[in-house]
Amino acid sequence: MMEIVLVVVVIIAIVIAFFLRNTGRVEQARAGLPIDARVVYSDTGAWERVEKALFSRRYRLTGKPDYVVQGETGAMIPVEVKPNRTARQPRHSDTMQLMAYGILVEEKFGTRPAFGLLKYRDEVFQIAFTEELRAEFFEILAEMRAARRAKNVARSHEDPVKCRYCGYREECEERLG
Ligand code: SF4
Repeated sequence: MMEIVLVVVVIIAIVIAFFLRNTGRVEQARAGLPIDARVVYSDTGAWERVEKALFSRRYRLTGKPDYVVQGETGAMIPVEVKPNRTARQPRHSDTMQLMAYGILVEEKFGTRPAFGLLKYRDEVFQIAFTEELRAEFFEILAEMRAARRAKNVARSHEDPVKCRYCGYREECEERLG
């Protein structure tokens, strides 16, 4: 009798484990992430959003990727999800944001990720963290820091939509539209 109970308990445990594993995979697929990747940085459990920002003292940089997953090779991969965005190409600003997360992930885990994933509503873009992209990111970072010290900063874009939803629109002399 004891053996039967033990077998039943083991079977139930296997069924629960299988269910949990598949639930995770469904969530993973829904988020548009590779099935062979697993979440390694999440405060609130698998496929919940990361709650705490990552921080780099060396670069004075902070940011919060939606996920950090570990691929089959063991590499840590930052993931940014923009569920309402549709585009055939990744936006440059999103690419730069992901590059920042790549640097933060490198600082936290000690290994430089080769790429990050940018998930739009219908597409997942794999963004390679090339030396050129990294250099461009640090250039922009330096410009932003210099701009913070400047009295006036010229508009850096030609996008009226950005201005329409900007919180400084009323005071800004360079607004578009
Ligand atoms: S309104 Fe001014 S500050 Fe806002 S996005 Fe446009 S140019 Fe930039």
